[in-house]
Amino acid sequence: MIFIGTVNLVRTRDEGNFLCPACGVSQGYRLRARRPWLTLYFIPTLPMGSFDYFVQCDHCKVNWDPSVLEMDAVTHANVGEEQFCDEALRAAVLVVLADEQFTENEIMALQKIAQQLMKRSMERDELGRICSSAQHNRIEAGNYVLSVSRHWNQQQRAQALQAMFLAATADGPLGEPQMRILTRMRELFEFTDTEYHAAIEQAVDWDLGA
Ligand SMILES: [Zn+2]
Repeated sequence: MIFIGTVNLVRTRDEGNFLCPACGVSQGYRLRARRPWLTLYFIPTLPMGSFDYFVQCDHCKVNWDPSVLEMDAVTHANVGEEQFCDEALRAAVLVVLADEQFTENEIMALQKIAQQLMKRSMERDELGRICSSAQHNRIEAGNYVLSVSRHWNQQQRAQALQAMFLAATADGPLGEPQMRILTRMRELFEFTDTEYHAAIEQAVDWDLGA
């Protein structure tokens, strides 16, 4: 039997400092080049496809498109905020998915949450794509937030918690799995009781309408 497979080989091509949109401050980076190789008996023998370049922050380890090196400070802040909004919405979608179903109320609530976060309206199509990709990836909401929230600041954490809370309560009282997720967020974000309750109370200000 012949063992054939693929492996991604990654090399550092350059190093320097850049303004990391996730960290919000200047950090060291490495410009990395990734290329898939065909392996024979686990030994890379043949390159397949072209190089794929990305910039990795030394501090938060988030990967960015190399164009990040040419951005100015304002664009950086926007990119970081856009990424956060996307992540917070996905977290809210996963909270809804925790009970394995979407109801009309939940879809409408998610649309309004998206609007609040992104300051623009979101069509059902676009939301539907996010939902089906979340469903497809089958990641649990708590684990997802654990993996993406490293670069969220305190205010963004509160905002994400509010989005998740509003998504969880779109259909009335909180179910058991959703309650568990929100409790886990409290621990993950290291909120005190007061901070946690203040954040939840502010969710009312989102004015999602009835
Ligand atoms: Zn960073």
